[in-house]
Amino acid sequence: MQYNSVCHSRNIILYLNLIIMKPESLMMSYGYKPELSAGAVKSPIFLTSTFAFQSAEEGKAFFEIAYGFRTPEQGEELGFIYSRLNNPKLSILEERLTVWDGAEEAAVLESGMAAISTVLLEFLSPGDLLLTSGPLYGGSYYFINKVLPKFGISVVDFRVGQTKEQLREIVKNSGKADRLSMIYIETPANPTNDLIDIEMGREVAEYFSTGEKQIYVVVDNTYMGPVWQQPLKHGADLVLYSATKYIGGHSDVIAGACLGSGELLARVKKLRTFLGNMASPHTCWLLMRSLETLKARMDIQAANANKVAEFLLNHPNVERVYFPGTLNEADGMQYLIRQKQCLTNGGMISFDVKGGEKEAFQFLNALKLIKLAVSLGSTESLAEHPATMTHVDIESPYKEQLRITEKLVRISIGIENHEDIISDMKQALESVG
Ligand SMILES: *Cc1c(COP(=O)(O)O)cnc(C)c1O
Repeated sequence: MQYNSVCHSRNIILYLNLIIMKPESLMMSYGYKPELSAGAVKSPIFLTSTFAFQSAEEGKAFFEIAYGFRTPEQGEELGFIYSRLNNPKLSILEERLTVWDGAEEAAVLESGMAAISTVLLEFLSPGDLLLTSGPLYGGSYYFINKVLPKFGISVVDFRVGQTKEQLREIVKNSGKADRLSMIYIETPANPTNDLIDIEMGREVAEYFSTGEKQIYVVVDNTYMGPVWQQPLKHGADLVLYSATKYIGGHSDVIAGACLGSGELLARVKKLRTFLGNMASPHTCWLLMRSLETLKARMDIQAANANKVAEFLLNHPNVERVYFPGTLNEADGMQYLIRQKQCLTNGGMISFDVKGGEKEAFQFLNALKLIKLAVSLGSTESLAEHPATMTHVDIESPYKEQLRITEKLVRISIGIENHEDIISDMKQALESVG
């Protein structure tokens, strides 16, 4: 019983802490009571597959709640049963992760794709219609457009800049407006930094929702979250993360997360139990360690990104920079969404090198400090070529229409000294042509 209460910290003291303290102050302790783990300052890893019940009655009660046969009574918590269902490390991490987004519940899974695919499978049924923004992360694009249709799910998409009236038209023109079940948004979009208005997604969802059917708005917040953008506050029902990126932040772990209301997360966690794609205690340990420095890392990354973008804007071998910080009033809606939704300009910059694939590759091959690798959000700066790497699966000419062209390079800004990042990019840009 002792460890059951280790994780479930929904008690007055922690709630009060949450009200008066900033999330970064809670990342070392929230959801964990040292006195229940021999005084260990850091929560131990429980490498156990199964947990002993104190009585058969207790085991029965745990299963009733885990399988949703009854709702927990006041103060009753889900006891530990088996590590595919829950584990102390997983529960503490999930509790802690809710702080940033102000979510009721979180589920942590073994990859971002595990979080995304589990949510799509849980909330879509054969015959349903899914509306997505474009572009999407390559893996999400593949799952949505190549795997979901095998289960009888139709997909339509919209582009940056389209209005809610246009979104309604897209849904109506599909002929399946009555089967719309989810609006899936990625903002800022990987790799173009296009911004999508989450509130607009909510309005379209409400327009098509009926008394019997609620249409869910799901947002992949990997590019800005959880520190710089909190989609639940703008009308999203569920937030998704590749925790491999900023949350993990050290390029040493693959993980994913989903956050939202207790009601929706109960469904996500139930399917996770049967897909068996929960995060392992070891993954949770790495993520908890990372959460302690999340704000500090992301602050440096955002500050560095602003300086790098400024450098790129003024470089003769750079044709165009895609970065929220370069938006101004002349950019209309994109600028307004930036002001409304994002707390910083983020740490991701894409830009067009003057020329094409040859010049983009010359730049990438000449980098010395910045690693030529996919992934993002880590302490070290990374550079890649979306058209032939992360987004290679997207068909032409759709790919080019999304501005994922041969000259596009994507940079994830790390925590190195900004002068070193800039001088590396400067020498690499000079080698172009
Ligand atoms: C990387 C990424 C994913 C996939 O996450 P994994 O942890 O690699 O499974 C999903 N969405 C976005 C925006 C990403 O950048």
